[in-house]
Amino acid sequence: MTDEQIIENVIKDANVLKAIKTVPRHEFVPKEYINSAYEDGPLPIGHGQTISQLFIVAFMTDHLELNSTHKVLEIGTGSGYQTAILSILSKHVYSIEIIDDLLKESSIRLKKLGYDNITLQSGDGYKGIEQEAPFDRIIITAAPEEVPDTLLAQLNVGGIMVVPIGKQCEIQHLWVIKKDSDGSLMKEKVLPVGFVPMIKKIN
Ligand code: SAH
Repeated sequence: MTDEQIIENVIKDANVLKAIKTVPRHEFVPKEYINSAYEDGPLPIGHGQTISQLFIVAFMTDHLELNSTHKVLEIGTGSGYQTAILSILSKHVYSIEIIDDLLKESSIRLKKLGYDNITLQSGDGYKGIEQEAPFDRIIITAAPEEVPDTLLAQLNVGGIMVVPIGKQCEIQHLWVIKKDSDGSLMKEKVLPVGFVPMIKKIN
């Protein structure tokens, strides 16, 4: 099976597959990796960070069960690739990135490609964006050791959070967390993964 066939077999939402075919992934990787842009693996984007593997982007997006009414919060803009996918499938995306140089590059890239329902914010993702909360969907693309409480508090009722959890030296797992109408949380561990750590800012 090719990587593309694996993705098509696993991903349930046809709109996610369509979004993946629409966003030009080669525009989000450094020049020297353009030929590898569509291979199914993570690639370096500078500053010790990586653009997530295509399958993982598709898998995480699928579990968000997005529609065009959703207000989405992403932590870890990185290259902006996941942000672009989210922007196609939702109403508005807020994305926080802690490394300013990456944020600047992504901002230019996303504007150039015409994605206009995205708000990028520099800073510490652990804080979320209080003044824009609640969010219908939250996706974290770096791994915290535990689910950040502040972000859980910013998740709307009926909302879904997709987050890789775990220490760097241990196997991390992708969790899907759903907030019920009564505020209770349902947590499901769905896949072993390997993400860069979610950086804790030293104050
Ligand atoms: N979604 C990105 C993946 C980037 S890797 C893409 O498709 O390219 C994870 C990103 O999370 C990195 O850019 C890293 O700088 C960022 N990050 C790590 N800790 C963070 C934090 N506390 N707040 C915001 N961003 C963070």
